Amino acid sequence: MFDYLIVGAGFAGSVLAERLANGSNKKILICDKRPHIGGNAFDFYNDEGVLIHKYGPHIFHTNSKDVFDYLSKFTEWRNYEHRVLASVDGMLVPMPINLDTINKLYGLNLTAFEVEDFLASVAEPCDEIKTSEDVVVSKVGRELYEKFFRNYTRKQWGLDPSELDASVTSRVPTRTTRDDRYFTDSYQAMPKHGYTRMFEKMLDHPNIKVLLNCDYEEISKDIPFRELIYTGPIDAFFNYRYGKLPYRSLEFKHETHDTEQFQTAPVVNYPNEQAFTRITEFKYLTGQEHKKTSIVYEYPQAEGDPYYPVPRKENAELYAKYKTLADARSDVRFVGRLATYRYYNMDQIVAQALTEYGKMVGKKRQEAAIAKAVGSNGNGSTATMQTLTKTPLS
Ligand code: FAD
Ligand code: UDP
Repeated sequence: MFDYLIVGAGFAGSVLAERLANGSNKKILICDKRPHIGGNAFDFYNDEGVLIHKYGPHIFHTNSKDVFDYLSKFTEWRNYEHRVLASVDGMLVPMPINLDTINKLYGLNLTAFEVEDFLASVAEPCDEIKTSEDVVVSKVGRELYEKFFRNYTRKQWGLDPSELDASVTSRVPTRTTRDDRYFTDSYQAMPKHGYTRMFEKMLDHPNIKVLLNCDYEEISKDIPFRELIYTGPIDAFFNYRYGKLPYRSLEFKHETHDTEQFQTAPVVNYPNEQAFTRITEFKYLTGQEHKKTSIVYEYPQAEGDPYYPVPRKENAELYAKYKTLADARSDVRFVGRLATYRYYNMDQIVAQALTEYGKMVGKKRQEAAIAKAVGSNGNGSTATMQTLTKTPLS
């Protein structure tokens, strides 16, 4: 008898499996319908031997010391500060928009003070910032909004920025300095040996069994367990009773080139002319040295694997109806980006899962992250992760 069946072996499911096994000595079966662990953060060495992220670029950054410390139990880190260029008006310029972006784009030589005046002169202030259009236009004006944000957002979401919550474009700041980092979090690093290695260590516990290529519905009636933790899409769990919740999808086009370097930045965004939104070159992210290089193009899609919850009012209302159903199910816990319909980064999902574990054991998140069952045989053992499949990790 398992204490828990956990659906989904991404961050949400794996953190809870690790905590319940290692912190509470519970017996866990974690299943995933994909042929690998790690969820969307899964990485692997492709046929040419280049470490790539199957589901697009995953860059770890957080301001949370306890999330960083928790994950540090399962990986060493490689310091990495992410940088992005945008292809606009035939030039490659820093994104987020900063002092150099404006100077390069307009052939100017403004100082940080002067660029503040410049932005103030083009910005269109608005009384209440409600949408993703308001966020940008109120800071940088309509022309820069149109060059960098409007078309990218339309492509990425299939919606105009005016139809999306402010939270979407608020993820990208505007700077009057020369700081060209994409993130400013206090911890910015990549797992030294990749995400999948980190997940293998998290799940390496005698109490955890991993079952891949397996939709939970195929086994939930036959395998005895006490409680369910569900990290898949919430609308699917309830058989789409109130209709489908929109999740935006992507098609990833991976390529390997017979050259050491493909582009001059880890990510180049293409807001306007192309059907894809961005190209990522993985070696920048992973630090791998290799004579070839692998890249991925992201083509947004309406249909396909659910990757992004779509933050807007009508979707929040529909999610609230599913949440009411979820709250009534005392036998199931809903955790993760798809199950709680939140546009969350990896660190936020780790925090959410640690908080959930804290609730289960009556501890605060910080304490829950370090709690260890008395007498348990925890991580660091030489046992390898116990996987009930022979499918290779690719
Ligand atoms: P997931 O990783 O989606 O895991 C859920 C798992 O549940 C999946 O593996 C799925 O197969 C499984 N599942 C679903 N239904 C079933 C079922 N019926 N039976 C069995 N298994 C099931 N975050 C960052 O912090 N930095 C980044 O740079 C970043 N880049 C991203 C880029 C892209 C293109 C995308 C899509 C996301 C990115 N994210 C990034 C977000 C990050 O991927 C998520 O925050 C994180 O992976 C969410 O973890 P999760 O466990 O909630 O969900
Ligand atoms: N965005 C944009 N142009 C850009 C970069 C971002 O319009 O060059 C908008 C777009 O709506 C995007 C959102 O800002 O979806 C958040 O960007 P982020 O890079 O955080 O997206 P993610 O990495 O989550 O796909």
